[in-house]
Amino acid sequence: MLKKIYHLGYAVENVEKASEFYRVHFGAETVEPETVEDQGIKATMFHVGESMIELVEPTRPDSPVGKFIAKRGEGFHHVAFEVEDIERSLAELKESGVELIDETPRIGAGGARMAFVHPKEAFGVLTELVELRGKGE
Ligand code: ZN
Repeated sequence: MLKKIYHLGYAVENVEKASEFYRVHFGAETVEPETVEDQGIKATMFHVGESMIELVEPTRPDSPVGKFIAKRGEGFHHVAFEVEDIERSLAELKESGVELIDETPRIGAGGARMAFVHPKEAFGVLTELVELRGKGE
């Protein structure tokens, strides 16, 4: 089911500041953050080999990332796995009784189809599934 680690998501208070940090100190090639209003986030990513780091700032305190930072502070937030077929992965997980946050995929940053598995099912780690290839038109 899993192809690779697509990205690791960090919850940050200020995505521009965090980008600047990785640009200056690690030579990361960062791009302009993108706002995903549906999720209440402003996010950007930079490559580390074939995986990426996603920096996620909440756009409102009551969004999931806003609540995460209020409770636990900045830090590691989620892992995203690339999968071949997100519908099939979600169906298989659901069928085996794994609790999902998103039962159907939604459109995340960069236009990729993604869904979250509940962290209580994955040993406390919020787990995101991402399908990159487009399907049909
Ligand atoms: Zn993510």
